[in-house]
Amino acid sequence: MNIRILFTVARGYTDQAGMRSVVELIHAARPNAVLVHGDCPEGDQDVAAIWRELGGVDEPHPADWYGPCRPKCRPRHRRRDRTGREYCPAAGPYRNHEMFGPEPIQETHALLANGSRGARDTAEMSVRLGIPTFAWPLGAGTASVPKFRADRFPCEVTVFCDTCEHEERGDYLVHENDTEDRRYGYARAYLRTQGWHCDSTGDFCPNHNPRQLSLEDA
Ligand SMILES: [Zn+2]
Ligand SMILES: [Zn+2]
Repeated sequence: MNIRILFTVARGYTDQAGMRSVVELIHAARPNAVLVHGDCPEGDQDVAAIWRELGGVDEPHPADWYGPCRPKCRPRHRRRDRTGREYCPAAGPYRNHEMFGPEPIQETHALLANGSRGARDTAEMSVRLGIPTFAWPLGAGTASVPKFRADRFPCEVTVFCDTCEHEERGDYLVHENDTEDRRYGYARAYLRTQGWHCDSTGDFCPNHNPRQLSLEDA
């Protein structure tokens, strides 16, 4: 059976050369994969055209914006587009569900750009479904992005305050091959945003953050 790879492309992903290099990289690794996509004119269709040009097969899933609402739709939620034509705002989410099943997706690739939500939503849904999901940010080309590896998964990390032994337990997204140091690094990066002081001198909760204390002394 051919594997199915999902591509989702942010509307703002405007780097055609970057897009081509990402698609070529994936195609070289998975030449027989079927490329599943949402068929949006901005992005999805560009990726699909490159994939077909390389000899690949694609499977478009256009959203049925102007089709009838479904039983799950909220009553009277239809909106009008710029031309006044009525559409179902849930057609995009319905389409996403269809792309992810009934045949499984083995891998998702999201070409992301700031301010474009659709592709990010699809990527997040893919992560929630436990599918290895790879983000290719605009401007990064193929260089700074991880190649195929296990997706991140939640792992519990506990950090103790060296002064009061207060413990802060949390789930952080880690990679399978992250060292323990790296996993603590994710937790410390987050805790710093919460008022903790974490560096080579130790971990200190907001109440014992040396920087805060010296401010109070001053
Ligand atoms: Zn609807
Ligand atoms: Zn403390």
